[in-house]
Amino acid sequence: MQRWNGWGETKRTFHLPLAARTYLEELLGAGVHIPDGDYQTSLDTVPPSRLPDHPLISTDDETRLLHARGQSLPDWIALRSGKIGIFPDGVATPETGDDVRELLWFAQEIGCALIPYGGGTSVVGHINPLPGDRPSLTVDMRRMNRLLNLDEESRLAIFSAGVTGPEIEAQLKPHGYTLGHFPQSWELSTLGGWIATRSSGQQSYLYGRIEDLFAGGTIETPVGRIQLRSLPASAAGPDLRQFVLGSEGRLGVITQAEVRVSPLPEEEMFFGAFFRDWESGMAATRALAQTSAPISMARLSDPLETETTLALAGRERLITFADYGLRLLGHSVGRTLLIYGITGDHGFVSSARQEVSAILRRFGGLPVGAMIGRQWEKSRFHTPYLRNTLWDLGYALDTLETALPWRGVDAVRAEVIQAIEQSFQSEGSRTLVFSHLSHIYTDGASLYITYIFHIGEDLEQTLHVWRMTKHAASVRIIANGGTISHQHGVGLDHIDYMEEEKGPIGLRLMEGMSKALDPQEILNPGKGWPYS
Ligand SMILES: Cc1cc2nc3c(=O)[nH]c(=O)nc-3n(C[C@H](O)[C@H](O)[C@H](O)COP(=O)(O)OP(=O)(O)OC[C@H]3O[C@@H](n4cnc5c(N)ncnc54)[C@H](O)[C@@H]3O)c2cc1C
Repeated sequence: MQRWNGWGETKRTFHLPLAARTYLEELLGAGVHIPDGDYQTSLDTVPPSRLPDHPLISTDDETRLLHARGQSLPDWIALRSGKIGIFPDGVATPETGDDVRELLWFAQEIGCALIPYGGGTSVVGHINPLPGDRPSLTVDMRRMNRLLNLDEESRLAIFSAGVTGPEIEAQLKPHGYTLGHFPQSWELSTLGGWIATRSSGQQSYLYGRIEDLFAGGTIETPVGRIQLRSLPASAAGPDLRQFVLGSEGRLGVITQAEVRVSPLPEEEMFFGAFFRDWESGMAATRALAQTSAPISMARLSDPLETETTLALAGRERLITFADYGLRLLGHSVGRTLLIYGITGDHGFVSSARQEVSAILRRFGGLPVGAMIGRQWEKSRFHTPYLRNTLWDLGYALDTLETALPWRGVDAVRAEVIQAIEQSFQSEGSRTLVFSHLSHIYTDGASLYITYIFHIGEDLEQTLHVWRMTKHAASVRIIANGGTISHQHGVGLDHIDYMEEEKGPIGLRLMEGMSKALDPQEILNPGKGWPYS
């Protein structure tokens, strides 16, 4: 069973060792547990539905509550406090493209908003119904979760778009294939959601981002069906797939997607290397990207993230091991950890490992083998459960992310960290802020910033501090030429920064697409970009 006010399955928890709690208390002060709002009390706040009866739509309170919010910090505050406020008026779970067409027709007929819903893992408010007189209908795609066709000759697979990460891999594996798209939310997020948010998987360096994997598909829109044929390449004008990628449910409902798949690799290995400081680690990581090193992923944690990650996981043995190695190199403080992956057959992994080690050593790196990489691999989809544990102890965790050219990465990192710290200081509280490079390209990288802070007894006040912090950080990102999002998308939380990023003509173009496909503005209104 899925948690109604947190992340993931109720049977899974992230155990935080005592040493890790002490570490947090030393840096932030003791957390104070804030009791959660009660499930039944929250359920009692669901108002009567304003939708007429329809055979495909459920209006029961429980289903509406479970589809009201995603995973952003404002969503957590709403769910944990039990003050959710706005609920969808109904939830449909279509099984076919015809069902989706019927629901679009119904929404137009009665003038309600229609919110496409994948796994509900959005961290920027994508799937939240908005206040107003207009009823809203959430269309949960998760019953559309089948592999429909596998063309092994072309390495193309067609899936219904509500299929989750584990369902994709389970259906491809018997045929010897993988999609290779592994966002940290993989357990719950869906193919349609990935496409609609331009998602990036942890091994996108090897397999590509979702825009590289999405070859074509079917999109039901209020004005009819769009069929995007899969082509290896085309010069027939602008690529319409690019309108669907990042469309955030504003242009139509993706019902089927054809994706590029790869043969399952013989070996998928992850390794660790330590650097004496962030600067040398970053130079080495840039060199990996710019020499097209044979890796599947690279994640470089700054010194504080390195220390915090190891401390929260209680891996004192690894810390001791790393310290020993670094002392041999003459460095013991400010260590920076790089996790990198190598995928291929046994011979390839072994020669690529030597090649990568040689590059890292040129920058003073100390490759420490596969043990730390294995730990990372084991916990890669378990780490989100830490958020539940932290909340129960009185701490909240949130993240920010951007991408920009290499020349700007350090300045933005320093400015955003400072902005977050100042924002909390101005409210008299402390925060722990750390960062990593999460995806690398020849021309730049994506920067991922995590911050942990106290939940106040007054959750409205916590929300106020979060808003101030988010704004201060977003302004710095945009002013320094970064994108407002490398992988999470726009939703509600980033919409105010879109004009700065796309420019007024760019926004008019996006609005024009909405008007062409959705003249009544029924599709996920208020998200992604303005519609006047
Ligand atoms: C713990 C955690 C870790 C995360 N890690 C990553 C990560 O590593 N990489 C990353 O890219 N993101 C990550 N995210 C963000 C989130 O998982 C992604 O944005 C994901 O792509 C959303 O997929 P979903 O199926 O949950 O979509 P939802 O959250 O349900 O919806 C997101 C948007 O897509 C639209 N949508 C969904 N399905 C369809 C459809 N079939 N047709 C049209 N529109 C649709 C919705 O209307 C909405 O606007 C993470 C989130 C969490 C909570």
